Amino acid sequence: MDQIKVFLNEDEMPRQWYNIAADFPHAMPPPLAPNGKPLTPDMLAPVFPMNLIEQEVSTQRWIDIPDEVLQILWQWRPSPLCRATRLEKALGTPAKIFYKNEGVSAPGSHKPNTAVPQAYYNKVFGIKRLSTETGAGQWGSSLAMACQMFGLECKVYMVKISFDQKPFRKIMMQTWGAQCIASPSNETNAGRDILAKDPDCPGSLAIAISEAIEDCVTHKDTRYALGSVLNHVLLHQTIIGLEAKKQFDKIGLYPDVVIGCAGGGSNFAGLSFPFMADKIAGTKNPRIIAVEPAACPKMTRGIFTYDSGDVAMMTPLLPMYSLGHTYVPAPIHAGGLRYHGMAPLVSHAMREGLMEAVAIPQLECYRAAMLFSQTEGFIPAPETSHAIAMTIREANRAKEEGKEKVIVMNWSGHGIMDLSGYQAYLDGKLTDYHLPDSEILKAGECLKDLPKPPPLQ
Ligand SMILES: *Cc1c(COP(=O)(O)O)cnc(C)c1O
Repeated sequence: MDQIKVFLNEDEMPRQWYNIAADFPHAMPPPLAPNGKPLTPDMLAPVFPMNLIEQEVSTQRWIDIPDEVLQILWQWRPSPLCRATRLEKALGTPAKIFYKNEGVSAPGSHKPNTAVPQAYYNKVFGIKRLSTETGAGQWGSSLAMACQMFGLECKVYMVKISFDQKPFRKIMMQTWGAQCIASPSNETNAGRDILAKDPDCPGSLAIAISEAIEDCVTHKDTRYALGSVLNHVLLHQTIIGLEAKKQFDKIGLYPDVVIGCAGGGSNFAGLSFPFMADKIAGTKNPRIIAVEPAACPKMTRGIFTYDSGDVAMMTPLLPMYSLGHTYVPAPIHAGGLRYHGMAPLVSHAMREGLMEAVAIPQLECYRAAMLFSQTEGFIPAPETSHAIAMTIREANRAKEEGKEKVIVMNWSGHGIMDLSGYQAYLDGKLTDYHLPDSEILKAGECLKDLPKPPPLQ
């Protein structure tokens, strides 16, 4: 019988995170202050605790995971690496398909991998309260749980379209003791400004981030927590790929293709960076593919530029692939992928030629999610369905080429709280959004006066 599921013993578990910034062939452009001047760590101090800022700017290759954090992560880690044999059979592919199931955490996604350490580092730094934004609600609920575990208060600004589509996520956050409100809200200047212009604004992550940062800088003992994009977030997620490498070692395989969906880039980076390290070292050469929604195609149709992480331009300027911070993506169900920019570390990996990006429209993703659910059982989050759709494309290619490839995808989360999207799909109400070039050009206008990063050197 084929081995279906690979576990690790406690003594095999990763106890350090992997920092790819130590290994890139070329230097990354530095982040800039909102005014375009060089950014210094102390400028971030009103927003993040210094222990996390140190990780944000670190170029040390391995960073120890604190025992207090491991103790919580080990409740559900290692996440299973499973072989999707029934999916393989349904596709008639010679490829071996594996998925790393991050849906087994309590909130149901990879997000607690960073929510737990972020809450921990804030706690030991003496912070009492965290503010944040959330798209589909996976991040808000993960941070709510982590804050509860470390005795911190938590306030979540949830993108309005998701707040309306996914009421159960809000209830999860409240169950874990957090406060959750729809964004744009009347509670911040940033929110009030948007509502004055557009009372029916569906919201975006860039708007919700502005609100959460404003909340943070106007409340004492409060810091802000971000669920993706930043270096320290991607660092924390590398536990996924470090486990996966050991799991593959145990069964004597190595993936030819590594796939992850990409919103801000954290789950994709979490699985892929430890494999990318082998690619940089020249010991292995897997294809590494990030999958974005066709409705928010920052890597495939955006530009590499300095851009702000939020609409009110309160964050530093980050060197990244972006559609522009004013871009409000179509209301696709994969709320976690509706972000205008891509993590600087992932953007840099793209420039280094270490990876590829592909954009896939919503309907193909739902078809893939249906096939996955009907073969493997687990119902994926709409975000995850993008990775599944790409995996199916690659498995079909392997069939055409008659090649026995090993494919691994990050199964970033379950979709049990996202069933209204499935309902819309089953009722035939879902559509693909065709994004004309003119809209991308219009969104990009906000980038005109921002500084441009230097060429790779
Ligand atoms: C948040 C989320 C994503 C997208 O965020 P990344 O930072 O790109 O990983 C993908 N899948 C799930 C299930 C999520 O909750």
